Amino acid sequence: MIIISGAGIAGLSLGLTCHQLGIPFQIFEKAQQLEPLGVGINIQPTAVRELEAMGLLKELETIGVKTRELAFFTKRGLEIWSEPRGLEAGYNYPQFSVHRGKLQMLLYRALIKRCGRDIVKLGCKITETKTKGNKISISVIDQTNKLSKVEANLCIAADGINSTLREQMYPDEGSPRWEGVILWRGTSKSKPFRTGATMAMIGHATQRIVAYPISPPDRTGNVIINWICERKLENTNSTHENDWNKSVEYNKFLPYFKNWSYDWFDFPKMVQSSSKVLEYPMVDRDPVDNWVNGLTLLIGDAAHPAYPTGSNGGTQAILDARNLGRALIELGATEAAIIKFQERTLEGSNRIVLANRESGPDAILQVVEERCGGTFDTLDTVITRTELSEHSAKFKSLVGLSVEQFNKQPSILGAYL
Ligand SMILES: Cc1cc2nc3c(=O)[nH]c(=O)nc-3n(C[C@H](O)[C@H](O)[C@H](O)COP(=O)(O)OP(=O)(O)OC[C@H]3O[C@@H](n4cnc5c(N)ncnc54)[C@H](O)[C@@H]3O)c2cc1C
Repeated sequence: MIIISGAGIAGLSLGLTCHQLGIPFQIFEKAQQLEPLGVGINIQPTAVRELEAMGLLKELETIGVKTRELAFFTKRGLEIWSEPRGLEAGYNYPQFSVHRGKLQMLLYRALIKRCGRDIVKLGCKITETKTKGNKISISVIDQTNKLSKVEANLCIAADGINSTLREQMYPDEGSPRWEGVILWRGTSKSKPFRTGATMAMIGHATQRIVAYPISPPDRTGNVIINWICERKLENTNSTHENDWNKSVEYNKFLPYFKNWSYDWFDFPKMVQSSSKVLEYPMVDRDPVDNWVNGLTLLIGDAAHPAYPTGSNGGTQAILDARNLGRALIELGATEAAIIKFQERTLEGSNRIVLANRESGPDAILQVVEERCGGTFDTLDTVITRTELSEHSAKFKSLVGLSVEQFNKQPSILGAYL
């Protein structure tokens, strides 16, 4: 029996994987109810292939948008670079832009349909684990504050960036690391821009907007645009609680973006039409060289929380679930399996955390800002095509997105299903 802490993207994907492989498991989730929380996330082709192997591609198509293009712009709205994404780029699976909460609910619905509602125990927080020989004792507090102990072969901590079980492993680590950047996020109904499925990154290192549609057009031709804007604060001595659901007034940040309105995209208008604006500090954690503690393993954001700039948090969570499934089928629900999983994935995941600190694929924005302040007549006088394409290739190879390599690979569990 495997106990999974957390019914987020990683925990639910692992549950679906265990079910597929016939491995007994139980999920405990501290929230009393699963609600479609969050705004947009991106699921890269590597993870879409796994969702298809989990039998979820058709449903994913009903809730997400197949991203066609990634495009970079200066703060004056001038195009720097654009490149095709997903199917348009030659991958044999699409990239999806999707509402995080809708994806989580899709995974949850599929899981309870396949395994029954009791497979996820809601309102149950895992507080501690103790390994005793080849068994692990797990402490769970339910919504009435009753403490119980559950015995299992393994405990998988998929409990997110504020992981309780990571804290047990690294008691001196403290809060996530914050370097003074705040993100404001929201969704707005608007006319689509460019391809209708473009992810736009606008600005430079200290002030930036990311926007992309997360719904197909409605009857009036409008889509739901997910937008995130960020700004580095001058006074970074304060601390910021990293609550995913903190809502704020847009006046707090909109003055900084008041001129960021172009003929193809009107950011101030978009923000003003959002029903809710969420504030979140841009945080991550320093990579660690061990996710295994006796029979407890960290996965997803509990193991390698990264800045969202590379659009790979959700993707990495799904890939972790599938890679762990592979190790479990090879070595059983044992310590050897979680060590094998770690050996295969830790280095790559940690590399992504560090690459995202360098601004991920959008570092090019700052290069252009420094050279011309966001305004130019001809881009060639600011940066060459070669420089632009080299930069793009560098990030893609880091996150394993080379088209040739990718298209040759089967899904992670292809040989076992
Ligand atoms: C409410 C919420 C909103 C989010 N919104 C966005 C967003 O808008 N954009 C974005 O890019 N990313 C968002 N994320 C983060 C994104 O989901 C993750 O980066 C990524 O999908 C990795 O998923 P994960 O399953 O590892 O972690 P998460 O998706 O964070 O899931 C962790 C789960 O574990 C549960 N949990 C925590 N502690 C315990 C415990 N002790 N016992 C039992 N259960 C526990 C949490 O309630 C949560 O359901 C959000 C996360 C959450 C929880």
